[in-house]
Amino acid sequence: MATDEPAPTRPVSYADTKLGLGIDLGIKDMAILNTGKKFINISKTSYYYHVEKMKKRWQARLARRKIAAEKSFAKNHPHQKAGYLTSRGIEEARYYLARWSAKLAKINKETVRQAIAQIVKLKPPHITVEKLNIKGMKANPKLAPSIQKLGLSYFKTWLTWQCQKHGIELREVSTWYPSTKLCSTCGTYNRAQFHGTMADLAVRQFNCPHCGLSIDRDVNAAINLQQATDYTVLTATE
Ligand SMILES: [Zn+2]
Repeated sequence: MATDEPAPTRPVSYADTKLGLGIDLGIKDMAILNTGKKFINISKTSYYYHVEKMKKRWQARLARRKIAAEKSFAKNHPHQKAGYLTSRGIEEARYYLARWSAKLAKINKETVRQAIAQIVKLKPPHITVEKLNIKGMKANPKLAPSIQKLGLSYFKTWLTWQCQKHGIELREVSTWYPSTKLCSTCGTYNRAQFHGTMADLAVRQFNCPHCGLSIDRDVNAAINLQQATDYTVLTATE
């Protein structure tokens, strides 16, 4: 659905949230706004790393203790099948694993909610995001773990709800919209930029051969999203 709203004339002040916001959901950073504001990916902080390490440690302990219990059962009861085996050690590991898992889930949730609270506070009339291709992302084994950590779909869900609550129109553009390849200043489609869609994440800068614009690639994508005129509205209108 397109609107007959004219495309903003350039140069526009990207810090002006009255023109609406574009949010690029990423891997290096969790979310990047067209204003240049970035919300870091929590999984890169040392605290997150610590919690994750503790979870993994208890996961490993639980597995080891289960194997040990099975072995000792097999030794003592050679002709019986082991049912539900437990021990003080196994129960302890189960307890701590559950605690660290819950902690990790809570951090993920809180980070997303805090970022969205800040975004909503800017009071933009509308916010534009890209449709997530979670399946495609998960198919890429290199990206899968960080994708899961980010909880991008949770971000989207919570954002939709918050936009609804605050009367902000949430727009979604199709996965085919070339937000990373368009120049946000002159609109030139740069085929050579970022060949595979997710392939060269190492290249952080967008350089336009046509107008000479050199800008952070995620900010460029966010500006393109903000300016997109072909979108679906996710929030219900009253
Ligand atoms: Zn350009």
